[in-house]
This record gives sequence, C-alpha cells and structure tokens, in this order.
Amino acid sequence: MADERQAASFEGIDVTYKAEYIWIDGTEPTAKLRSKTKVLADGAEPPLWGFDGSSTNQATGHASDLVLRPVFTCPDPIRGGDNVLVLCEVLHTDMTPHASNTRSPLAEVAERFADQESWFGIEQEYTFFKDSRPLGFPLGGFPAPQGGYYCGVGADEVFGRDIVELHLDRCLAAGLKISGINAEVMPGQWEFQVGPAGPLEVSDHMWIARWLLYRTAEEFDVAATLDPKPVKGDWNGAGAHTNFSTKAMREGYDPIITACEALGDNAMEHVKNYGHGIEDRLTGHHETARWDKFSYGVSDRGASVRIPWQVEVDKKGYIEDRRPNANVDPYVVTRLIVDTCCTALEK
Ligand code: ADP
Ligand code: MN
Ligand code: MN
Ligand code: MN
Ligand code: MN
Repeated sequence: MADERQAASFEGIDVTYKAEYIWIDGTEPTAKLRSKTKVLADGAEPPLWGFDGSSTNQATGHASDLVLRPVFTCPDPIRGGDNVLVLCEVLHTDMTPHASNTRSPLAEVAERFADQESWFGIEQEYTFFKDSRPLGFPLGGFPAPQGGYYCGVGADEVFGRDIVELHLDRCLAAGLKISGINAEVMPGQWEFQVGPAGPLEVSDHMWIARWLLYRTAEEFDVAATLDPKPVKGDWNGAGAHTNFSTKAMREGYDPIITACEALGDNAMEHVKNYGHGIEDRLTGHHETARWDKFSYGVSDRGASVRIPWQVEVDKKGYIEDRRPNANVDPYVVTRLIVDTCCTALEK
C-alpha cells in the first residue's frame, strides 16, 4: 500500500499528505515537545485532533483526552512535497486552554498592546551531546579551555557544523524567520536567532525551530539540549537573549530607558519565569549579571539588560534582555516583557 502511494505521487497524483502535529507537553520543571503524524486527504485542512494527556503529564488516566488545535502551519522541510508541520495548542475537551497552554495568555496580552507594535528577536543557545558528553569533549576529560571556540573554524574548534547547516536550511525551507547562526563559547555549543517578529510569531517559529533542531540532530545520532548549564564549572551556560522593541523605542531614546527601568521594577517576577535553573546560570560570571541584582547599561554584556552601542549612537532601536535561560518558554518571556514594558510605555 505504501509503495502504491509512493508510486502514485511520483506520477504527480498525490492522494494524501502527512501533517506532523507538534505540541508542548506538561513535563516538569521544563516542558518538552511531542509530535505525531496524521495522514490527510489531499486538500483537507489539518483538523482538531486529540492525544493521551496521561502520557505527557497533562492529565490523569481517568480523564486523559486532550485536544490539539492547530495554531501555525508551515511546509515540512524534512518530508518535503505537500507535507506540513502543524504547531498546536493544548485544550480541554470543552475547548478551554489547558494549564500547560502558555500561548493562550500571551495571545491576550499581545492583543491588548497590539497598537505598540512589539518586535522580538530571540537568540537560542543550545548544546549538542553524544555519548553523554558535549560534542567535542574528549572521553573522560575536558577540551582546551574556552577562548577559541566562539565563531570558530576548523576541526579542532567546531563540532557539529553539518547538523547546524542542515538545521538552518530546513528552518529556511519551512519559511521560519530565522536570522542567523553562530558557534558558541563552549565546544558543541551553538546559537540560532529568530526574529524580529511579533510576540506570537517569534514564539511559534521558535518552537518549530527547536523541534527541527531535535529532529535534525536525531538523524546524526546526536541529542540537542537547552540545558542552561550543561557543564558545571568554568564553562559558559546557555541562554536565550531576548531582544525587544516597540514602535516608540524604534523611534526614540526615552522609551528605551523607560523599558529598562520597567524591567528593573519587575525584575524578580521576570527572573523566576525565565527558565528552570536560572540561579545556576546567572552567577555574575561568564557574561551574566547575578540573577538577584538588576542592572542595565550600554554595550555591557555583564548587565541584566544591554543597550547595544549602535542604539545609543542612533538614539533609538531596541534592548537586549540577557537573563532568559536557553530553556525559557518563548510564550512566557514575550508575554512578561510586553506586559511590563508596554504598560510602562502607555503611561
Ligand atoms: P548579539 O550581538 O547579542 O549576539 P544577535 O545578532 O545574535 O545579537 O541577535 C540580535 C537579535 O536582535 C536578532 O534576532 C535580530 O533579529 C534582533 N533585532 C534586531 N533589531 C531588533 C529590533 N528593533 N527589535 C527587536 N529585535 C531586534
Ligand atoms: Mn494508542
Ligand atoms: Mn547572539
Ligand atoms: Mn550567544
Ligand atoms: Mn546576545
């Protein structure tokens, strides 16, 4: 049967396509991605679907059915053809949002402040692991200390580039707003950036880009992790610097300062929602500010929030919140920043 379908599609007579339904589960303390495949008749829209919430820490066995509602669909760059990736939000069977559905509260906040035209660019750092150690770490020991790896070139400094290149190509083929990649400070550590885009769009694209990262690395028998401190000791952690602007910030400097001050006034609420294990990463070392001490400054990579030098020169632009962990939920970080900064800016 499978062969017949394939043969039919070679003659250009597709009868079905595959939709990979992707959702965020209820794993504690950090949610994970799940996905499963639905075969659909050609021309059919991806419908509501369901899953067993008792297997994803989202329900008990007695009332296990939860609903997947498509929120963002894009071409599937792995399967190709007419196949698609379908990002979903999780609902109860009465169509109310499940507690693990952080997109729903973001949608409300984004709508409330839509007139301020928020943009985000998120820098996703991550680390490849193979055989239980970071890719490039020698068996039973450590590589040369940090220094030559960031944006490095050559087999002694760069590990996993073939995966990274394929991931970038797949994100582009999916139509995601990915804006760059670079090798990071620790061997096996990398970064990609998504944005600028509005809060819902940047977050949806980030979740799909994460799924494509895991899925692509899987083909190389490598695991990608968003662990914020994958190696203890004198090695950089992994963050998700979150760059932010509103229309007013893109046009003048006073709103830039207002946004920084507002983030300072709400520092603890932000930090405690910026990803599990944030105290272990925001130590005040390795290009971080301590998690319990808020600061902002021009060009300062030791500050909680950095104003890029060009922004100070131009007297307009954006700010970089350097605190979010790599394992932050983009729906949460963008909601908190929009809520805090746009409330202050509308005064
Ligand atoms: P860094 O110098 O901190 O490594 P990157 O180049 O990795 O910076 O990331 C900067 C991010 O900021 C990119 O995702 C970019 O799209 C985003 N960005 C640029 N301009 C704006 C803006 N006006 N508002 C929000 N984000 C922006
Ligand atoms: Mn089953
Ligand atoms: Mn960066
Ligand atoms: Mn980085
Ligand atoms: Mn940065």
